[in-house]
Amino acid sequence: MNLAARTGTIAASPTSGSRNRARALARSGVQVINLAAGELDRLPPEIVLDALRALPGDVNRYTDTAGIPELRKAIARQMMARTGSDCASEDIVVTSGAKQALFLTAMALFGSGDEVLVPSPAWGTLSAQIALSGAHAVPVDVSASRFLPDISQLERHRTAATRGLLLNSPNNPTGIVYPGHVIEQIARWAGEHDLWIVFDECYADLVFPPNVHYHPVQVWPESVTRVVTVGSFSKSFAVTGWRVGWLAGPPQLIRAAKALQSHLTSNAPSVLQHALLPAAQGAADEFVADSVRVQHARLAVAEQELAGTPHVRWQRPDGTFYLWLDCREVLGRAHGAVRLGNDLVLSDQLLEKAQVACVAGSAFGAPGFLRLSLTVGESHLRKGLSDLKEFFSHVE
Ligand code: PLP
Repeated sequence: MNLAARTGTIAASPTSGSRNRARALARSGVQVINLAAGELDRLPPEIVLDALRALPGDVNRYTDTAGIPELRKAIARQMMARTGSDCASEDIVVTSGAKQALFLTAMALFGSGDEVLVPSPAWGTLSAQIALSGAHAVPVDVSASRFLPDISQLERHRTAATRGLLLNSPNNPTGIVYPGHVIEQIARWAGEHDLWIVFDECYADLVFPPNVHYHPVQVWPESVTRVVTVGSFSKSFAVTGWRVGWLAGPPQLIRAAKALQSHLTSNAPSVLQHALLPAAQGAADEFVADSVRVQHARLAVAEQELAGTPHVRWQRPDGTFYLWLDCREVLGRAHGAVRLGNDLVLSDQLLEKAQVACVAGSAFGAPGFLRLSLTVGESHLRKGLSDLKEFFSHVE
């Protein structure tokens, strides 16, 4: 099967679709409260912008395929601090966003006939990229276990064709952070069955205290030979449009990822690698701490506004900037003359009648849920959520 045939079976990212629809409405003059965007609503750290402005003209050349050495070194240091395990510049490949890191990983590790377990709900791109590699993404529904995967669920879905699993903590869309003991059990289990763990920790910095983010190698050091870590500057430093991420992993994976990257993009954009160096070296940590404080406060506002909303429930997120609303109870009911047959109709109606944009749960393999991004200022957040509450109060 060629790539055109594969992509024919893969729809464009629904999260991008919701974002684009909300933006188009806003451009046409409709006042939309956009809770669909998976990004912070602030400028990047001043120190990063200063670094960008101060760049000399001679950062115009191709960089090393795996990225500029200083940036890889800074990322490796962070990895060591996070995991307590050795990590060198040679273990890092800087990519055009975590999306590309995940793609390189899928292409390097998986292929036709392979199965890869994906705890679900999950960010849709994960399964789409596994499909692009020719492998089959096997969803493992974790909504009945407080959105935490456990090894009995994973074991039920494991077959002779299972090659790996994809873990995303802190999680998009649920905002749940996997506790250390959960990650440890999974890492041990993956070791017993010789499975790769692709660990997407793009939201690692956005964790609300007292919750703590854990990495598989930190809780089960033996897993170091089978874990591929995927990280990003996007969410931590409000640079989603810059497209810089990375992967870290064992030598055979790094070799394959570099070979693929050398044919795809050559390297992540040179200018942005240089500009993000201070952030990778920890000089923008206060910016991150501030985002965490702001998002934590917005979560409190959101929970206050949504309290008492009929037909919806949620589990408090431990981090990220998402709120994952369980609206399964409204499916099949009516809002005015419209039957809310599924979550796509529900999110369309919310946009049309309440001018609130959010992403339908189907985009994450979970029909009947909505993902709200709490990344608007307090007055907009209050207005959007009170309009949403009003909408739900008219569901019959
Ligand atoms: N992984 C997860 C779980 C995400 O939610 C996203 C973006 O929404 C990404 C990866 C991609 O991040 P990047 O902007 O670095 O490509």
